[in-house]
Amino acid sequence: MKKEMLYEGKAKKVFATEDPNLCIVDYKDDATAFNGLKKGSIVGKGVVNNRLTNHFMRLLDKEGIPTHFVEELSERETLVKRVTIIPLEVIVRNIAAGSLAKRLGLEEGHVMSRPVIEYCYKDDSLGDPMVNDYHILAMNIATAEELNTISGYSLKINEYLRDYLLKHGIVLVDFKLEFGKLPDGTIVLADEISPDTCRFWDSESNEKLDKDRFRRDLGGVEEAYQEVYRRILGEGN
Ligand code: UDP
Repeated sequence: MKKEMLYEGKAKKVFATEDPNLCIVDYKDDATAFNGLKKGSIVGKGVVNNRLTNHFMRLLDKEGIPTHFVEELSERETLVKRVTIIPLEVIVRNIAAGSLAKRLGLEEGHVMSRPVIEYCYKDDSLGDPMVNDYHILAMNIATAEELNTISGYSLKINEYLRDYLLKHGIVLVDFKLEFGKLPDGTIVLADEISPDTCRFWDSESNEKLDKDRFRRDLGGVEEAYQEVYRRILGEGN
């Protein structure tokens, strides 16, 4: 079923299939941070991220968010609709952490009075610079209507996942989304939703259960990924 490799990213490979409208994503254990400056491996991460992403995509689809998800093929591989990725990282934040805390002088853990959306232009050679609506429209990265759809979906995804995760003992601090366009122009949620792309804190202890453990050399990286998996997909869930 897998044909030629179309793309190899930092955490995933993408393969063509016999159907030009579908491709297969294969999740790796490789981990990078700080725009590729820090490299390593998180054993079992590919399985956790593949299965968690698919679980979230199925739930979001039921909530009326169109996604690229088609079918889980194996523990690391998923069949998805082929899309043209809109070169934006859409970041939604509920609690100040990481670059937001640093930039605005907020203490990590400061609860924002409402969700914040930020956009970064996906270009590794530029270090994914932050852009606003005006840049996006002026650079023709998306139309006003597309951007409206993207921000609306992002806020809805945030509300849904925030409540869902809290029921599983996890605070959704912030996360990054990517959207793609189908050949007919429909905007769908693409990429992944995982401990690589979200900040997850334990709701009682605020312990970090995400890639910050790798970024900041906190130890217990594999265990954190497995713990999120267990809370969301473990027996009885
Ligand atoms: N994020 C991501 N990929 C990126 C940059 C950020 O998935 O290339 C996620 C990150 O995991 C966090 C959120 O987006 O959940 C906000 O990240 P931030 O801007 O604070 O950047 P960081 O401090 O993580 O570099």
